[in-house]
Amino acid sequence: MAMLFALGMGLGAAAIACFAWRMLAAWRTLGSLLAALREGDYGVRGSLPSRHHPLRGMIADINAVSDTLREGRRKRTESLRFLGKTLTALQDPIFVVDREQRLVMINPAARELIGAAHDSVIGRDADAMGLMPVVVASDNAILSWEFPARTGRWIVRRAVWYSEGYENTMVMLHDVSAALGDEERNAWQRLIRVLSHELNNSLAPIGSLAGSLSALLDQHGGDAVEDDLREGLEVIERRSDSLARFLAGYGRLARLPPLRAQAFRLDLSLRRLARLEDRMQIGVEGSAEVVVNGDEAQLDQAFINLLRNAVESALASGGGVRVNWMVAGAQVRVTIEDEGGGLPERSSLFVPFFTTKPTGSGIGLSLTRLIVEAHAGSVDLRNRSDGPGAVAVVVLPLGT
Ligand code: ADP
Repeated sequence: MAMLFALGMGLGAAAIACFAWRMLAAWRTLGSLLAALREGDYGVRGSLPSRHHPLRGMIADINAVSDTLREGRRKRTESLRFLGKTLTALQDPIFVVDREQRLVMINPAARELIGAAHDSVIGRDADAMGLMPVVVASDNAILSWEFPARTGRWIVRRAVWYSEGYENTMVMLHDVSAALGDEERNAWQRLIRVLSHELNNSLAPIGSLAGSLSALLDQHGGDAVEDDLREGLEVIERRSDSLARFLAGYGRLARLPPLRAQAFRLDLSLRRLARLEDRMQIGVEGSAEVVVNGDEAQLDQAFINLLRNAVESALASGGGVRVNWMVAGAQVRVTIEDEGGGLPERSSLFVPFFTTKPTGSGIGLSLTRLIVEAHAGSVDLRNRSDGPGAVAVVVLPLGT
C-alpha cells in the first residue's frame, strides 16, 4: 500500500515537473518572440506547443502580429523604393528640408543644378548653401534664380508633411522660362502682326499721295504757298519712310527665321564681335575654347544687342566693357559687364518696345531672349554687385 502511494506520488511529481518544464519552454518562446519584435526582427516565428497548451493561443497571436508587421514593413520599403526611383527619374529638381531647413533629401536633377555631390549636401543648412529663397518660396510662386549650373524662371511647388512628429518640406522646381517666353512671344507676335498690317495699310496711300501731290505742284505751282506745301509733303514722305523702316525692325521680332544650327566656336565669334565695336575697345577676358551647337548668325545678333547696350551705357559714363566666358558642366556662361550707370528701375527690360533711349526701339533685349531661348539657353540682365554698371549673363548648352 505504502509502495503504491509512493509510486503515485512519484508519478504526480514527474507530471508536475513535466508541465512546469513545458510552461517554462513556452514562456521562453514568448519572451524570445517579444524580444525579436522589439528589435524589429519580424521574421522570427514561435513554434506552437500542443493543442491544449494554455499559451498556444498567445504564441499564435504573436506570430500573427509578427506577420502583419513584416507585411507592413515590406509595403513601406517598396513604397520608399518606388518613391526614391520616382524622384530619381524626375527631371525637375526636388529638395526636401526638415524644420531647421537642413537638407534631408535631394534628387539627381537638383544635385546637378547646384553642382554638388550627394553626400556633401545631405544635412547641410539651406541658408549656408544659398538656397533659402528657394525653400521658403510660396507654392506656385515664379522665381527667377541663378543656380551654379542653370539660370531660369522657375515655378515652385511645395508640400509639407510630418514624419515622426517633425515637419518636412518638399520643394519642386519646374523651369518655365521657355513656356513663359513662348506665351509672351505669342502675345507680342499677334500684336505686332496686327499693328504692322494696320500701319502698312495707312502708310502706303500716305506715301504715294504725298508723292503725287509733289508731282502736281511741280507741274502747276509757283508762289510762296507752294514752298510751304512742298515742305509739308516732304515731311509726310520722310516720316512715312522712317515709319516703314521702324516697322520693318519690329517685324523681325514676329518673323524670326527657323534656326539653322551647326557646331561652331562661340569663343571665336565673341572675339570677332568684340573687335567689331569701333566706339571703344571691349576687353576680352575669356580664353576657353567653346563649341556650341546653334545658329551662329542669330546668336551673333543676340550678343551684338547685349554688347551694344553695354557699350552705350558705358560710353555715357566713361566706363569700359568686358566680355568673359567659362564652361560649367555641360553649359557655357557668357558675361558682358559694363561700367555704365546701371539698369533703369524697371522689371520690364525684356518686354518688347520698352526703351529709355530717345532713338531706341526696345526690341534688342526681347530679340536676344527669343534667340537664346530658342537655343535652350537663358539670358539675364542685372546690376553688378561688385561695382557700378550692369552685367548680362547668357547661359547656353555646349555642343558636341
Ligand atoms: P533699346 O536698346 O533699343 O532701348 P533694348 O531692348 O536693347 O532696346 O533695351 C531696353 C532697355 O534696357 C534700354 O533702353 C535700357 O534702358 C535698358 N538696358 C539694356 N541694357 C542695359 C545696360 N547694359 N545698362 C543699362 N541699361 C540697359
